[in-house]
Amino acid sequence: MHAGEDNPLASEETAASVVQSVVLHVDDDMSSLIMAEGTLEDAGFAVVHASNGREALDRYQEHQPDFVIMDAEMPVMDGFEAIRRIRQLPGGEHVPILMTTGLDDLDSITRAYDEGATDFVTKPVNFFILPHRVQYMLRSKVTADELRASQEKLDKAQRIAKMGNWEWDIESGALNFSHGFLLAIPAAESAPPSTWSECLHLLAEPERSMFEQAALRAVRKPDRLSIELSPSGGTAGQKPRTIVLEGEPQLDANGKCTHLMGTVQDVTEHREAQAQIHNLAYFDITTGLPNRARLLQLLGAAVQRADQNNSKFAVLFVDLDHFKQVNDTLGHDAGDLLLQMVSERITDVLRSSDLLTRGSEENTETHTIARLGGDEFVVLLDAIRRPEDSARVAQRLAGVIREPFHLDDNEVSISSTIGISVFPADGTDSATLLKHADVAMYHAKERGRDGYQFYSRGIHERALQRFSLEKDLKRAIGHGELDLVFQPKVEIATGRISGCEALVRWLHPERGPVSPCEFIPLAEDTGLILPLGQWVLARACRQMQQWHQLGDIGFGIAVNCSAVQFTRGDMEKELDTALKDSGLAPHLLEVELTESLLMHDINAGIASLQRMKALGVKVSIDDFGAGFSSLSYLKRLPADKLKIDQCFVKDLDSDAGDKAIVVAVTKLSHDLGLTVVAEGVETREQFGALRELACDEAQGYLISKPLAADALIAWVREQGQDDDPRWLADAA
Ligand code: C2E
Ligand code: MG
Ligand code: MG
Repeated sequence: MHAGEDNPLASEETAASVVQSVVLHVDDDMSSLIMAEGTLEDAGFAVVHASNGREALDRYQEHQPDFVIMDAEMPVMDGFEAIRRIRQLPGGEHVPILMTTGLDDLDSITRAYDEGATDFVTKPVNFFILPHRVQYMLRSKVTADELRASQEKLDKAQRIAKMGNWEWDIESGALNFSHGFLLAIPAAESAPPSTWSECLHLLAEPERSMFEQAALRAVRKPDRLSIELSPSGGTAGQKPRTIVLEGEPQLDANGKCTHLMGTVQDVTEHREAQAQIHNLAYFDITTGLPNRARLLQLLGAAVQRADQNNSKFAVLFVDLDHFKQVNDTLGHDAGDLLLQMVSERITDVLRSSDLLTRGSEENTETHTIARLGGDEFVVLLDAIRRPEDSARVAQRLAGVIREPFHLDDNEVSISSTIGISVFPADGTDSATLLKHADVAMYHAKERGRDGYQFYSRGIHERALQRFSLEKDLKRAIGHGELDLVFQPKVEIATGRISGCEALVRWLHPERGPVSPCEFIPLAEDTGLILPLGQWVLARACRQMQQWHQLGDIGFGIAVNCSAVQFTRGDMEKELDTALKDSGLAPHLLEVELTESLLMHDINAGIASLQRMKALGVKVSIDDFGAGFSSLSYLKRLPADKLKIDQCFVKDLDSDAGDKAIVVAVTKLSHDLGLTVVAEGVETREQFGALRELACDEAQGYLISKPLAADALIAWVREQGQDDDPRWLADAA
């Protein structure tokens, strides 16, 4: 029968149901089938019958019905079994199935739902209402189909967008999510979690704690959640992904968080693209070095740092001479290759100059190289001690660039010209520093290529002087221009001589005497301190042994030792050699080391001191208090003496702070069994104050200036044997 005009349901028909819906009615009771058929057909449905479960399956496959009415109890195959099977058939998953059961049969109703029935109706069935029931159930199926379709679309869209959503029911602990959520827990692909705690267990550390803590924070506050994870456990060999997890708390009427709902998104490609864009914007493609934009940022940061630390840095503008010729004759590929090789050589030079300076001072230099484009490079030398120091780096850069390059089969030689500006002398902002380095480079080009030039004439001259001094010092060590003077130290209680310190002097043939304060740092920078130190040690030991052989000289000699000797040379061996060669008894030799050196690597320092002491040599800490002293490490040092720096002695009688320091250092040193020596004692008042403070020994102009060897012996003899030495009487 077709949908009649008098059919009340016909007017509600949607366009979709113009095609007649087919109802499969399964019942072993023939009268039921016939009764239902009439009303269903009147309502516009086409009806197919089956009298048991097995037949129902056949009919189902034959007609693909839109609706199934299924009796529970039937011969051959009952309704429950039939429903289960229909659900497994293609298209059977979502077809609405109405089960008819006995009124009092609650178990059947539950079972019906378990097997997959959509709804039930109790027998006897009201056949007039049945078509309405079918109609409404069909409608809700349409809605469910639409929902499913839209969920599928959402899933698909989420898959394309590499994202997913999730919802955590805080009370029950249940976790619902779309497939995309598994991006955040790849380990769960095979066994998706259904609760929050299962989900957490599938995450590895540190992702688990991160996610858990962020979520708990969001629930407690309540607040938005946003974290980034790199979950492991995906397909083997797959590179780690970057997943952004976001969530928002859902609150009840009391403002309490009941659910956390959120999204996950795989942003790996996005981040990679960002990094690539950053690279393109800030790095030079040919050499991989920072470009101008990045350099300006780095310069800005260097300015800030230097401002804060009150330090200096240099900007070296390096320009390759006649680079254009290489491009013109060998082509751009060869030109690019050359630029890459230059950038590698510059990098190597900076790395090795780092190694050279390290160990001599606590400054750790960090350098930056950038390419401005064309044949221009810029080197940022961070934390230099003196502006002139950068000239040495410039010379080394020019040196390595000058060495021939092999480009395929061609040997190419080029030179470079370097302009240098220094912060803060030549500018206090990045643009000015860069401009002035460029200007200096142009001056250097004008003077003939292949050279370097400081922007400031003063610095340039100082750099040149330093180089000539370095050359002269090299010569001085081998040509007898160095000498030692000796300064006595006395016991404060008696005023009697207790030892002397050997101090190096350089008599420059043209410049006259050069202060060790000037040439010792230079010798340290250039490594000349090693032969120089060796010479001082040998000479001091020989001198002391000579005096000792006179018979009436009972004191020992102290020799200064530089940090560079200590860290880069073999101090124990040198000491041993000097002692053996001279025949001096080890207890008459004392080594003075500055504290900054020991602070550099305290454990290595202690080990080395112990080895020195094993030779029988004494050790004293020089200039104590001038550097970054830490009283706490004193007790670990195997030293015999501590020399308080001159700066504390200078205002001892007028500055309460200095006095307090001397008191504290003396007290602590005595507790630790160290002898305390005051340096730079110039006045009787200072001497008197030191005596009151129970300081042990004193050294300074009040007692005597450093003296030549003969003069020292004469001075010692003048002092006499009594408790009122000559110098003390003279000083009165
Ligand atoms: P230092 O080891 O602390 O030596 C003491 C310095 O103070 C010496 O300066 C000395 O002449 C000076 N001095 C002594 N008494 C007084 C005084 O009453 N008032 C003032 N104002 N100064 C006084 P010098 O000889 O110029 O040496 C300076 C520094 O050079 C030394 O300081 C030491 O660190 C270094 N030095 C000297 N000779 C050598 C050496 O052979 N090897 C090494 N590595 N360093 C040396
Ligand atoms: Mg000294
Ligand atoms: Mg000193």
